[in-house]
Amino acid sequence: MRSAVCHSEGMSVFCCVECRLLQPPTTQCVECAAGMTAPVELVRELLYYRDTKLLRGRDWSLITAFIAGSSIAMPVLAPVAIGSAIALGVHKLVLWRKKRAVAGVTLPPLTAAEGATTLYGVARKFRGTVSSLVDTGPVLVEHAAVKDKRGAVLLRRSESAPFLLEVEGAAPVLVTGVTRMTSASVPARIQVARGDERLGRMGVPADFAIAGNLEVASVAPDGPVLAVTGVLEDEAVAELAFHRDGGQARVMRGRAGSPVLVSDRRLIAAAL
Ligand SMILES: [Zn+2]
Repeated sequence: MRSAVCHSEGMSVFCCVECRLLQPPTTQCVECAAGMTAPVELVRELLYYRDTKLLRGRDWSLITAFIAGSSIAMPVLAPVAIGSAIALGVHKLVLWRKKRAVAGVTLPPLTAAEGATTLYGVARKFRGTVSSLVDTGPVLVEHAAVKDKRGAVLLRRSESAPFLLEVEGAAPVLVTGVTRMTSASVPARIQVARGDERLGRMGVPADFAIAGNLEVASVAPDGPVLAVTGVLEDEAVAELAFHRDGGQARVMRGRAGSPVLVSDRRLIAAAL
């Protein structure tokens, strides 16, 4: 029986089986809102899959229950009452497990929330920063993905701290909630293998057989001009009371399934 893996803060790391996002404990993936999110140690067998369709829906809880039993010796475990779909799922699990390599997945394109607008500006620190996986330096938004040779995503992590977007000719906009970095002017690409400290900081269990390219995109405070896409709302933010009466501020708040999207504007310009 494997022991639960712990984060540096002593918290369990959850993994979304659909989009491979490592994240703090949750019942729903913070980014894609999938329910198939569970402790990474529990779902590690599922990461050998490329196709998760079979696992969706109500079978999910049963399959995780099987895996939680640490053994997936199918014929012994499966009582007669269990449906054939689940039997097939567990059978496939056994087959895929033998491949012994985490299968890369292609992420669906990120789509902006309905009613979203794009603002351009420079990110300023609000309350604080998060530390970069690469060099632990202060960043506001970061996305790190381990990809295989074909560019498919094995595991990834996304971090952000609320920040103020300084927009020309208007009050700053508070960007908070689920925030996803989609590009960087200089995407750092580092070869990583099991035991790499950066993988450890991402929350990848130390005994995970994982190797590939780590691609990191991040934005530091006062960095380049960004394109930030999200739904603009008015919210009361006490800390912004000096900007407007009563602290009513313009806020872009990212939610599960519709994160605020952040990209480097220079890249967009280069692509046009
Ligand atoms: Zn997800």
